[in-house]
Amino acid sequence: MRYAEVIVDLSAEAVDRRFTYAIPEGMDLSPGMLVTVPFGPRTLDGFVIRLTDQCGLDPAKIKPVLRAARQEPVILPDLMALADWMHRRYLCNLVDALRLMIPAEMRGGRVREKTLRYAHLKLSPEEIPGFIEKNTRAKKQIEIVRRLTEGDIETPRLDAGPLKALVDKGIVEIVAHEARRTPLALADDARTADPVLMPGQARAVERLTAALSTGGRFLLHGVTGSGKTEVYIRLIREALRQGKTAVVLVPEIALTPQMVSWLHARFGADAAVLHSALSAGERFDEWRRIRSGAARVVIGARSAIFAPLRNIGCIIVDEEHESSYQSDRRPRYDARQIAWRRAADHNAVLVLGSATPSIDTYMRAMPGVRPENKLELIELRQRVKNRPLPEVELVDMRGEFERGNSSIFSGRLAQSLRECLDGGHQAMLFINRRGHSSFVSCRKCGYVVKCDQCDVSMTYHRAGEALRCHYCGRTMPPPKTCPSCGSVYIKYFGAGTQKVQEEVARLFPDARVARMDIDTTQGKDAHQRILDAFRRGDTNVLVGTQMIAKGLDFPNVTLVGVVAADMTLNLPDYRSVERTFQLITQVAGRAGRADVPGRVVVQTYDPEHYGIACAAAQDYRAFYTREAASRRLALYPPYTVLARVVFASREAQTARKAAREAEDALRRYLVETGQEAEALQCRACEAPIAFLRGEHRWQLFVKLYFKADVEAVTRRMEQIAEAAPEGTRGELEVNPVNMI
Ligand SMILES: [Zn+2]
Ligand SMILES: [Zn+2]
Repeated sequence: MRYAEVIVDLSAEAVDRRFTYAIPEGMDLSPGMLVTVPFGPRTLDGFVIRLTDQCGLDPAKIKPVLRAARQEPVILPDLMALADWMHRRYLCNLVDALRLMIPAEMRGGRVREKTLRYAHLKLSPEEIPGFIEKNTRAKKQIEIVRRLTEGDIETPRLDAGPLKALVDKGIVEIVAHEARRTPLALADDARTADPVLMPGQARAVERLTAALSTGGRFLLHGVTGSGKTEVYIRLIREALRQGKTAVVLVPEIALTPQMVSWLHARFGADAAVLHSALSAGERFDEWRRIRSGAARVVIGARSAIFAPLRNIGCIIVDEEHESSYQSDRRPRYDARQIAWRRAADHNAVLVLGSATPSIDTYMRAMPGVRPENKLELIELRQRVKNRPLPEVELVDMRGEFERGNSSIFSGRLAQSLRECLDGGHQAMLFINRRGHSSFVSCRKCGYVVKCDQCDVSMTYHRAGEALRCHYCGRTMPPPKTCPSCGSVYIKYFGAGTQKVQEEVARLFPDARVARMDIDTTQGKDAHQRILDAFRRGDTNVLVGTQMIAKGLDFPNVTLVGVVAADMTLNLPDYRSVERTFQLITQVAGRAGRADVPGRVVVQTYDPEHYGIACAAAQDYRAFYTREAASRRLALYPPYTVLARVVFASREAQTARKAAREAEDALRRYLVETGQEAEALQCRACEAPIAFLRGEHRWQLFVKLYFKADVEAVTRRMEQIAEAAPEGTRGELEVNPVNMI
């Protein structure tokens, strides 16, 4: 008897182990296959991990595998090993890692191949006149035959009766074709020719392609508009020529539609796209094209790193500094780490690309790094066609206020916008907050309207006349009088995208303004529609949040306005300066990407701050030097590791008690393992947002020096999180994206 060891598709620690099932006679199984098995009173999906002849249990009690979902493994061997690594590295259940590797709808058989039935004419052109002569009275049949001479037609589009008659006569046959559900981004057939490379690009391509035979890890640091994408394309093409495959990760596919169309334009059907906004059918079909080897280039958001490719030649992580590469759900993996690991498994070339690399990544490209962590630095210092970087002007908003201008636009920005529109060009206005006003407050007593489920001020949205909580989504009507003192002096403070849009419309009645933020991009392909309209020139001013900061390339954009540069500067997060620098540099880079030079106006209350000054100068190296020094001094990552367990509970007391007990437990552990000195901090405290979605939040916050056994300490913290007392949830986060 043969047995299969199966992990059932149920995410619970208690069942996170292999169960043994008998393989019925005639069933052909192999590791990585998706099967259905009996489990207690139910049937569940499961992944075959291993086959064996041995079984330590009573064979009579072993239940059989019921069926296999597909005839081939859905998890390739290297991905099976990767899942196992993730299980240990990210302290998740094995099944949680395996689930990432196939389209969600494949589990439980919720999606399958789509087949279409076509009518196909069996007559040769010479035989047709004969048929018509013999059947002059069957007008409808003749009509169908005529239409079919142009090519096969889907059966529902033909008259059923006459069609059946034709089939019965053997004139027409019905053929089934598997249909491919093609994602919108890949529907266009345009092909483009190769542009001429700049010398810097050519050197980069040469270095990277040379590494295809040996493998290697690179940081491609290129200023905005330096043509990193073209370097990726040449590398991918060489990989394909050598019979290998390629992965390109982008932060969020909806926000980088251009990357998809560029790659598609050069690789055609070789390119597949994988991301969460596809329909279930599209995702399944794309996955199967990759699995079968029909598509050899995969473009996608972070989960595309698990694409079932064989023989990977290169893995490219574009805009590597983006936080969306880090998963904020279990398993809390970092796609860059997975890329690193997968590239090593395949002896592939890993390229992390950015105009504003994260401090952590850039540090790995500096001297003195251990070989196993080392990245080779490749720089692109010039824009393509030697275009100049846009001119950035800082406007000190304190001066504006003194001059009596209390509008959200400085005189300089308003004037530049006027000139831009008069010249027939387009402008992008960036403000990193959606909604109309960021908070509502009483002028008399200072009361701020907060969400009653979260310790967060409510944002005013003009659409729908409502106050909305950006954390839990709760809405309420704006108060007419102050809930605290009853005064009628309710004021709206702090601008968001809606307010900016309104101001543009008010000051420039001739402008055609579009807005891009979470609120305007809810529907499927909504992003693309907004961007397409802007590209066509139907709109000429695009107001947006960080959604418009990334990777967009519009030749007619000559003005970029950063409405409030300081907004992200003073957030309670050690990365707030880095994020501000990245955002301003990236959004500035959207200007002047074609033949008309670009101008950028940055409005700030703090023009001397190095985060803002270095962004205005577009001087990454100067910024890195300052920021790395400040991190070293304050002992923040990458010099240390931050980890925390957040305890959430309906009762403040319960959450606090859990955090305090967790602190005691971890302290004991640190003493026992002799690591007290390596823990620079270990304390229970309120989370920065102490009340969220109706729950009180306390945390065990830990800062570890790099000499600590980080893996062991975090594993201990995970155990502490899981042992959270009743009425609380504990959640471990290591270097979380968001520290709130
Ligand atoms: Zn009041
Ligand atoms: Zn809320």
